[in-house]
Amino acid sequence: MKTIAIIGAGVAGLTALQRLKDQAEVTVFDKARGPGGRLSSKRVGEDSWDMGAQFIRAHSLEFRHALEHWQNEGLIQEWQVNPWLITSDHRGPSPDNTRRYVPAPRMTALSRQLIGAAHHFEASCRIVRTHYDGAWTLWDENDRAFGPFDGLIINVPPEQALPLLPPATALADTVGSLDMLPCWTLLMSFTSPLDVPFDAAFVRDSKLGWVARNNSKPGRENTDAWVIQASHAWSALHKDAPRDQIQNAMIASFTELCSTPLPEVRSQWLHRWLFAVPAQSPGLGSLSDPECRLVLAGDWCQHGSVEGAWISGNHAAQQLLEMFA
Ligand SMILES: Cc1cc2nc3c(=O)[nH]c(=O)nc-3n(C[C@H](O)[C@H](O)[C@H](O)COP(=O)(O)OP(=O)(O)OC[C@H]3O[C@@H](n4cnc5c(N)ncnc54)[C@H](O)[C@@H]3O)c2cc1C
Repeated sequence: MKTIAIIGAGVAGLTALQRLKDQAEVTVFDKARGPGGRLSSKRVGEDSWDMGAQFIRAHSLEFRHALEHWQNEGLIQEWQVNPWLITSDHRGPSPDNTRRYVPAPRMTALSRQLIGAAHHFEASCRIVRTHYDGAWTLWDENDRAFGPFDGLIINVPPEQALPLLPPATALADTVGSLDMLPCWTLLMSFTSPLDVPFDAAFVRDSKLGWVARNNSKPGRENTDAWVIQASHAWSALHKDAPRDQIQNAMIASFTELCSTPLPEVRSQWLHRWLFAVPAQSPGLGSLSDPECRLVLAGDWCQHGSVEGAWISGNHAAQQLLEMFA
């Protein structure tokens, strides 16, 4: 059996894993303690929130079928929400026909199921160096070596992928031309429900971009828990600002948006996503270098969404299998 390494257990890496698991021995590496990447949950005390992706939706027929499959397997449930649109001159429901799904009871429920297909999963393992000489060897930050592997998929954001590329590959120019946008994310839970007429809202003309009552999603705990995302533009402008300034500014904007005082805070957490979503949607699927059986995958190769990552992971697996054919 061929051996394959996947660096990054985000949706793209996990999707490639499903396609490759029966044809190769696959080892997955991730610097985090668990799989999922930006499909992420955060727990503080007894409260928890979806800290990254907020919901999954399908544009393509293929991904719609994947969602149906996950729904039948009990991995995702529909989030029946009617998001509002709040702008400087509009405030109200923004009906659409979009079906929104979430893994339950939290986002990581899906990734924890998908990682089960790996022959080996090396968690808390940041890969810092790779070398190809007919086969791949990888090293982590403690200088532990892994390999040899016949093929390699790198599923990390472009800036983090660059140092892992072999010097001879022509992929570096494309990778270097693609950027990610940041997103400050504030998580707040309250001792009593926040009295607003919406459970989620797309926000424009504000520091904020999205707010959602996390406990309106299926399977979540009952505590009134809110996810408050700053807009990408504001996050980029204030990427390196002190955390307390960011937190105060976001709370002030959220209070103004709600037009009501916030209830007593039970717990809160501020997270800076440096690489939240890709700035471009290149629609490339994945990037491959057959000379060294290397494929790069991730939403940034396709478009910024769980669906984009899923398409990229499938494409990456197909590219690698063709290199072995
Ligand atoms: C705040 C926010 C909100 C979002 N909202 C939505 C939404 O509502 N709907 C939607 O569809 N999408 C949303 N997205 C986007 C969606 O989360 C991503 O498109 C998708 O999860 C990307 O998956 P991926 O596999 O490409 O990358 P990632 O999930 O980023 O996976 C990359 C993995 O690589 C690991 N890694 C990085 N470097 C190394 C290394 N050197 N060694 C080992 N491991 C490494 C990371 O730990 C990570 O697990 C949102 C994203 C954010 C951040």
